[in-house]
Amino acid sequence: MKFETSIRASVSVSGMGVHTGREIRVHIHPQAAGSGIVFSRTDAGATIPAQAEYAGRLDYATALGEPGRDISTVEHFLAACYGEGIGNLLVEVDGPEMPILDGSSLPWLEVLDKAGRMESSLPVAPLRVSSAATVTGFPGKHLEIRPAADLRVTYSIDFPHPAIGKQAMTVVITPENFRKHLAPARTFGFLAEYEFLKSKGLARGASAENCIVIGEAGVENGELRFADEFVRHKILDLVGDLALAGRPVLGHIVAHRAGHRMHAQLTRMIREACLVPDLLSMPRSSGRGESVSFR
Ligand SMILES: [Zn+2]
Repeated sequence: MKFETSIRASVSVSGMGVHTGREIRVHIHPQAAGSGIVFSRTDAGATIPAQAEYAGRLDYATALGEPGRDISTVEHFLAACYGEGIGNLLVEVDGPEMPILDGSSLPWLEVLDKAGRMESSLPVAPLRVSSAATVTGFPGKHLEIRPAADLRVTYSIDFPHPAIGKQAMTVVITPENFRKHLAPARTFGFLAEYEFLKSKGLARGASAENCIVIGEAGVENGELRFADEFVRHKILDLVGDLALAGRPVLGHIVAHRAGHRMHAQLTRMIREACLVPDLLSMPRSSGRGESVSFR
């Protein structure tokens, strides 16, 4: 049996925000079983639970909270928490996004390892889907969850760039597999999109130190950590977005060319299917036209 887990001691980390280019400081504190992971934006007075109903902007990263008081790029940190089975934390952030660090979850694992672990006596209650569910309304993309006894992910991508192309992977999400096969996989960006992103006020902190840089000829900043690092990072992103379920999820997720918006939609569906009575009094996020279907 697994028990709800937090960290043993508070720990701090600071680093560059990939979109703002600002130095951001994060203090992570232990919390009691049943608290969940809660973000606090100390410079804006906002407290935001890490739950799918609070997902905000989802274009290039996952943000929680309302625009202007939100915290963006939470997914690589939350993936590390999910991978380690840590479900109760207070995360104080003094700016609008989490530091990007090296663009993977590995530095976050190191931070959490430094903080140690504190296991409670409260057993973890996973969310188990009883029937398959599919996120619809995204032509050319696919995302579904099927009942399964563990959490496993089958992810495929198909980028029209020779450095990436078609990649696919199936992995059971255990702490060991997450740490070894997913956590080191870095985020990636195309040089061709860099100027466009900067013109929208994004990617101001992006550099060869915090993402795989893809130019016309291929990867421009050294060796990949895995030959299929790109699809591994997509799974890492999915795990981070799935952490917004607030509890471990049991099911087989099959994804093709999905992204943060679809991941968050699936996570909301899982919460609605498994936690309906608890959710009746909670704020709802706007649907932006996508629909869901259970079959
Ligand atoms: Zn990512």
